[in-house]
Amino acid sequence: MPLDEYKRKRDFKWSPEPKGKIRKSRGELHFVVQKHHATRLHFDFRLELDGVLKSFAVPKGPSLDPNDKRLAVMVEDHPLDYMNFEGEIPKGSYGAGKVEIWDKGLYHSSETLDPDENIKKLRRGLEKGDLKFVLFGKKLKGEFVLARMKDSNWLLIKKKDQYARTKD
Ligand code: MN
Repeated sequence: MPLDEYKRKRDFKWSPEPKGKIRKSRGELHFVVQKHHATRLHFDFRLELDGVLKSFAVPKGPSLDPNDKRLAVMVEDHPLDYMNFEGEIPKGSYGAGKVEIWDKGLYHSSETLDPDENIKKLRRGLEKGDLKFVLFGKKLKGEFVLARMKDSNWLLIKKKDQYARTKD
């Protein structure tokens, strides 16, 4: 079942995180980036697809600089409700620490503008380990790619476009 791993890792008696309820994606697809003050600070990058949030832990966080290749470790799918979650996961619980929303918005495949094709391209990109998408957030905008290296290790890279920012 889609959210089994998510549920197995958590005890909802203690954690304020959303329970693993499965919902249907409808219409436009959302993304969220959460800043997670866990034992090690990291950013959780999540893309809505097929009723769950495909999730990656990005230790250094996303960058708008195409020269930055940010490690993104694929983790278990999260429920759609997680995109609105902010709060404190209590000590002793899985992922203990504060979670805050760092950015959110809509996204779609870079490869098509057709709504039906969109889902297919995104699924296919995930399978292939080459997911190209456009983000419409407050901080994150424009084209990105998630490229699989090995196992659950991916790289999150900004593509060159009008929203790219290089440090010089
Ligand atoms: Mn996390």
